[in-house]
Amino acid sequence: WRSSLSRIVGAMKAQALHSRPSARGMQTVTLIPGDGIGPEISGAVVKIFEAAQAPIQWEERNVTAIKGPGGRWMIPPEAKESMDRSKIGLKGPLKTPIAAGHPSMNLLLRKTFDLYANVRPCVSIEGYKTPYTNVDLVTIRENTEGEYSGIEHVIVDGVVQSIKLITEEASRRIAEYAFEYARNNQRTSVTAVHKANIMRMSDGLFLKQCREVAEKFKDVKFTEMYLDTVCLNMVQDPTQFDVLVMPNLYGDILSDLCAGLIGGLGVTPSGNIGANGVAIFESVHGTAPDIAGLDLANPTALLLSGVMMLRHMGLHSHGKKIEAACFDTIREKKVLTKDLGGNSKCSEFTAEICRRI
Ligand code: NAD
Repeated sequence: WRSSLSRIVGAMKAQALHSRPSARGMQTVTLIPGDGIGPEISGAVVKIFEAAQAPIQWEERNVTAIKGPGGRWMIPPEAKESMDRSKIGLKGPLKTPIAAGHPSMNLLLRKTFDLYANVRPCVSIEGYKTPYTNVDLVTIRENTEGEYSGIEHVIVDGVVQSIKLITEEASRRIAEYAFEYARNNQRTSVTAVHKANIMRMSDGLFLKQCREVAEKFKDVKFTEMYLDTVCLNMVQDPTQFDVLVMPNLYGDILSDLCAGLIGGLGVTPSGNIGANGVAIFESVHGTAPDIAGLDLANPTALLLSGVMMLRHMGLHSHGKKIEAACFDTIREKKVLTKDLGGNSKCSEFTAEICRRI
């Protein structure tokens, strides 16, 4: 037992050493470069963070689904161990293999770390032409239940039932996260998005939790709005919204609509907040296999996800510096990737951002 004990003590010491910021004040972040353009855009982010002297020590881990005990799909233990220790991850896009029975890696990560809140700030970038200007809102989507609970079955031939699951616990957790987020990020209002007029029990329960949580946050204005009314108002004047909180399916759809308002997925960051302090920040676009390896990818979405991550870690001045350099580069229009309307390579765009830091 002595040797087991010394092994355990050794492991605990090693863990304590890793989870503490190092002597130089560096904080460890698990970097999951991802597939396709993932390595190019994550390489760009690492370079820009270096130029900004962000106190981050990257721990790179590849993530592909493997079969664990009992044939269950899991993420590789080295990646799980790194995330458990660092608590913070930055992730590029991951391809979903088409092979039958293969899980979506994003879903697997969501389940492994109970990533219950998907947060997407949508902010207009000055000088980047889009149908709307001055958009500055945040969608907060419940990420674990609703229509995406995966409970589906055939009732009789030709009739399928899919169950929408809403719980008091998950609704309260996301409502509390939304109000805390508003308070900590100098936001003034939270709108609960729902269809409780039709789904009286399920959305009714969600709304009840939002109303109760709102009572505890008197400094944040609370409004509630039907999903269809939000869509109508959003395309007429998105500037009227601040923080929006909603169940899973509504969030999936509305967050992409909002990304469209500011120029699409190439410039939209996101964060997935989990239980036990874990958070993974990621670009929401895919692996772009058509341009992978050609130095043509736009790293903005992953870079802005990194900025969100820095703010989440309390590294506000580094976040501000990087965001300003990125926005200035886009506003000046001299060095832009193709999707942003320019002719430059990913590496040139990256170098220009570094130059401005
Ligand atoms: P996609 O987002 O990869 O590509 C759609 C189009 O947008 C392509 O023309 C692509 O070149 C372009 N594009 C995307 N990101 C870009 C960037 N940063 N810079 C420049 N152009 C960019 O969507 P898809 O083709 O439907 O999906 C490809 C793969 O990505 C699939 O395996 C899919 O499952 C996966 N995927 C992963 C995530 C994720 O990990 N979060 C999200 C969506 C799709």
